Formats: sequence, structure tokens, C-alpha cells
Amino acid sequence: VRAYFLRIGQVEPKVKAYVTTQKEQAMVDAAALDDSLKGWRKTQPMMGMPLAIKDNLCTEGVTTTCSSRMLQNFVPPYDATVIAKLRAQGYLLLGKTNLDEFAMGSSTENSAFGPSRNPWNLQCVPGGSSGGSAAAVAADECAAALGSDTGGSIRQPAAFCGVVGLKPTYGRVSRYGLIAFASSLDQIGPITKDVADAAFLLGVIAGHDPMDSTSADVPVPDYTKALKKKDLKKLKVGIPTEFFAEGLDPEVEQAVRAAIEELKSLGGEIKEIQLPRTDAAVAVYYVIATAEASSNLARFDGVKFGLRSKDTKDLLDLYTKTRQEGFGPEVKRRIMLGTYALSSGYYDAYYGKAQAVRTLIRQDFDAAFKEVDLIVTPVTPTPAFTLGEKSEDPLQMYLSDIFTISVNLAGLPAIALPCGFSKAGLPIGLQLIGRAFQEDTLLRAAHAYE
Ligand code: GLN
Repeated sequence: VRAYFLRIGQVEPKVKAYVTTQKEQAMVDAAALDDSLKGWRKTQPMMGMPLAIKDNLCTEGVTTTCSSRMLQNFVPPYDATVIAKLRAQGYLLLGKTNLDEFAMGSSTENSAFGPSRNPWNLQCVPGGSSGGSAAAVAADECAAALGSDTGGSIRQPAAFCGVVGLKPTYGRVSRYGLIAFASSLDQIGPITKDVADAAFLLGVIAGHDPMDSTSADVPVPDYTKALKKKDLKKLKVGIPTEFFAEGLDPEVEQAVRAAIEELKSLGGEIKEIQLPRTDAAVAVYYVIATAEASSNLARFDGVKFGLRSKDTKDLLDLYTKTRQEGFGPEVKRRIMLGTYALSSGYYDAYYGKAQAVRTLIRQDFDAAFKEVDLIVTPVTPTPAFTLGEKSEDPLQMYLSDIFTISVNLAGLPAIALPCGFSKAGLPIGLQLIGRAFQEDTLLRAAHAYE
């Protein structure tokens, strides 16, 4: 803990990965673990592991802001299930990491507290929305971190920062205590230095939870054991034509194609496949995600918790002023889009239609996974972009998620891992997508490759 805080002291003024650090508490917790250590190590493999947690996961007694003015002073009275599980294993909380406000964004530039920076190049974004978590791992400001992924928010920042990011199958990890953005898409997952750490952390946080009715009652395999086979023998690997189309940066394409060659030399059988509705994914996502967000964010009304605007005349004025002052422009934009899509007379045309196309996207994946065991794609069309480059143009920002979004719509697991660098020295990511609840196959292949 001391070593990590030394490092945080050195690099954090530049990287700005954290919203909150809690040095004193972490030192106290570490000392308590030291005292009780004898004989524990074998049964508590996680004991003393210093982690950073995305600031949309509730931590009892530690502010959880969602990088929003709305929750700037919110101290949750309970732990998210994933935090309770880590705590039971003796982990140490170093601090809470920065994100795009309420996880809406791809660069952390939508944080009310200012953006984080990419440790590989401080002029570049670390990606988002879990940009603080990815930057903290890449800059050695923690041993590993947790993020959340609604449309790419674990995988895209992992790719931009040259680390490993795993989005589990929808339902694999309990969302209880994750402040909801789009409930049918959100999943919590690890951001780590390597695949073995991702496998280990997934094993700790996965599993059924009665507090989350969408968490699945499916046995959790030993993911670390799954890493033993260091090859892709007997695995069919699909390359979707639609993901290698125009808009893909040549350097990214080259790195991903080289990675595919390597997967082949590791025993994988490479096959071209089709995912024909890929072009509809971004549009479908921005109807469904904004609709769900508009409903989820209705709870921030100045009454129950979070910000309360002062000097208001009546209840309506309290609601209006609180939401005006508490939410940033991107959150407001999404609430308006989502409210419109759900309003009477438009529901069928927008939300209903988007749900129908979502089913077709899922069916494309179902068909593909009859032919192959894994799908390989780039994570992002380009390496990390510079700060400010896309922040004035929301549509450009939305389009940068084109390769990650369909995975959330289909509820599938996917991992991002480093596969090279651009000439400018920025990391490039490789995405492996697996069948539902087959994170073990995904991790095995990723580990064989890395
Ligand atoms: N960038 C996407 C968005 O802005 C995804 C964010 C996420 O996964 N939380 O919605």
C-alpha cells in the first residue's frame, strides 16, 4: 500500500485517474491484515491486494460520485455485491476512479471533475467510461481495477491504455450496488495487467446474487485452471467481415491481422464469418441505452439523496433546479433522447423497433457461434484520440464504439487485450468474443495469445 501511494504521489498529478484516494484508511486496513496474517495466505489468495474501483460502484462509507455533481457528496450506506465479495477476501481499497458522468461517454471528458489522461501520451484520452480504472492500471497506480461496461466501457479504455479488460456475460456478475446506467446492458468486470489477473478477479466477483434478479444461477468454473491449456487447439475462430470495413485505421487493421496469424499458429482454425446487422448496432444501442438511462436517472430528484438545489419555491422547482445544476450536458442529452424515445406515440417507432433489431443482432451471433467458438475483432477503429478531438461532436464519439456495442446488445462475454502499438507509440487492442457463460474459453485463448 505504501509503494502504491508513493507511485500515486508521483504520477497522479499528471494522470488524474482517481476521484478519491484513501491512503489513511488503506494503511489502517493493511496493518489490520498484517496483524491477522499468520496462516491466512493459503485460504485468502486475495488478501492485501490493492485495488482501484470505478466510482459508480457503491462502497460503504466512501463517497461514490459517478463523476457527477449530482452525487458529489454521496456516501453509500452499503457495499455493492462485488465490493462485499472482495472485502470478504481481504482486498484493500486504494481509491475510486474517474469516469464519464454516470458512465456515459468514451473518453472521461464527460466527468464533472475533469478528464483523466492516457499514461502512454498525456495529450490523449484514456478512453471511457472506465478511463480512470484503465489509466490507474496502466500507470501502476493500483494492482488491478474494476470497471463497468454498457457499450464498451471496460474494453475500449483497456485497449487505449494497453491493458486487459474483460466484460463478462450479462448476468455473470451481480449488478447490485452498481449505479445503473442502462440496466439491460450494464456489466461489471476486471481491468488488469494480464489475463491471469483477469481470470482470478472474475472468479472472485462472479456468481448468482439474490439481490440482483438478472444475475444468473450458473456455476462459476475455476477460471485460473482454464488457463492451463496454452493453445487454441480444437477452437474455431471467426473473423467477421463487417468489422474490417472502411473507417478502420490501417495500423489497427495490421496489428489485428497479425494477431489473427498468431492465433492460427497457436492451433486455432480461422474462418471468415458474417454478422450482417453490425451496421445497426450503434443506432439500436443509443435508443435502448438512452431510454433505460432516462428511467434510471429519474431517481435523482433532490429529495432522497444526492444534490438538493437551494432556494427553491416549490417541489417542481426543486426537481427542475436540482437536475439542471446536478447533471452535465451529455447526461441531459441522453435523458432527453431517452424520454423522447419512450414517450407515448413514439414508443413503438423507436424503443419497440430497437428491441426488435436487438433480437436480430443477437440471432446473428447465435448463428455465428454455430460455426465458431470465438470471434476476433479490433476493439476500436483507431488508437487513443487526443483530448478535445471528439468532445464537440457527440455523433463522432458515439461511432467510436462501433466494435464493442453489439456484444452488450447480445449479452455476450468479451475480452480486450494488447496486440501492438501504433507508430505514434499508442497501444492497439484485440477483442475476443465468446459464447454466453464461456468466459473460460475466452480467457484460455487470450492467455495463450498474450
Ligand atoms: N461509450 C458508450 C456510451 O457512451 C459506452 C459507455 C459504457 O459502456 N458505459 O454509452
